[in-house]
Amino acid sequence: MVKDRLYGKTLNELIAVAKRLRMPGFAAKQIADWLYKKEISTIDEMTNLSKKMREVLIADYELGLSPPVNVQESSDGTKKYLFKVLNDKYIETAYIPDDDRATICVSTQAGCKMGCIFCMTGKQGFQGNLSSNEILNQFRSMPEFSRLTNMVFMGMGEPLDNLQELLKSLEILTSEWGYGWSPTRITVSTVGLKASIGEFLQNSRCHLAVSLHSPFDEERRMLMPIQRTNSVKEVLDIIREFDFNSQRRVSFEYILFKGLNDTPAHVKELARILNGIKCRINIIRFHRIPGSEFGSPDMAETIRFKEALNAKDILTTIRASRGEDIQAACGLLSTLEQNRKEEK
Ligand code: SF4
Repeated sequence: MVKDRLYGKTLNELIAVAKRLRMPGFAAKQIADWLYKKEISTIDEMTNLSKKMREVLIADYELGLSPPVNVQESSDGTKKYLFKVLNDKYIETAYIPDDDRATICVSTQAGCKMGCIFCMTGKQGFQGNLSSNEILNQFRSMPEFSRLTNMVFMGMGEPLDNLQELLKSLEILTSEWGYGWSPTRITVSTVGLKASIGEFLQNSRCHLAVSLHSPFDEERRMLMPIQRTNSVKEVLDIIREFDFNSQRRVSFEYILFKGLNDTPAHVKELARILNGIKCRINIIRFHRIPGSEFGSPDMAETIRFKEALNAKDILTTIRASRGEDIQAACGLLSTLEQNRKEEK
């Protein structure tokens, strides 16, 4: 019998488990403490539950933690972990240390449906949604777990295409009964799904990062097929309805392609469409992927573009490229090969 996993359940779900197993009402909170505040590796270590209660739990449930199956380390200290999910698929998770910060970049899906043409995950296609257990296991089972200070949902997949499991994961991360992290340490990145973005903004206080990449409709459609059904204009209209204060940030990710989206006309149009939104732009230099006709601008060109945006009063930063030598950098995550090996 395949056992259900306790790790990744919200307090309300644990209350339902306790009720079903006829445990006392306070048992759910005790289980949550063991799952999210202590570093146990078996249900048997939940020693403030009676032996009988532990036996009842073990009969139907497992803890649900699984370590990474491989790791690669970059010369810059970034690590890329490989996790097995959905029984026979793989995902990747990046660990990015930076002075006193240590960021985990988690995946929310195996592969991705969005098909952005500059992204290796997009080329891999979609294999399935991760559960909150599989999303949070990347965090809890990373060997550097206790050092982590920040989390970005920028790994494989489109987080808002797996909204309910994303919201459950964020609830566990930020609740007082869970990990108790401040939402300001967490950023969720999206291509901009209009059906889910409002629900995400309403139900979480985490930062939002929207992948923009071009302010022009046709050009963005060529880069990101999602623009055909979810235009940036519609997404910006939804964002304008929410209050972003000093605690909560909206940023726009902008992959810079040499000679494509780095012109003065782009700067002008970006300033026009973002007018009235308190935000920042993060420029990411394009990381070449096999078969791509696009080029990457050099640092001087990237800085020129950033300064042109700054001159328009748009706070703009250049994101340092990390882990490029192990394909852990933005747009390079792919488990196509591992999935193929598994199928043989
Ligand atoms: S960039 Fe993000 S949304 Fe686009 S294909 Fe890659 S993983 Fe999916």
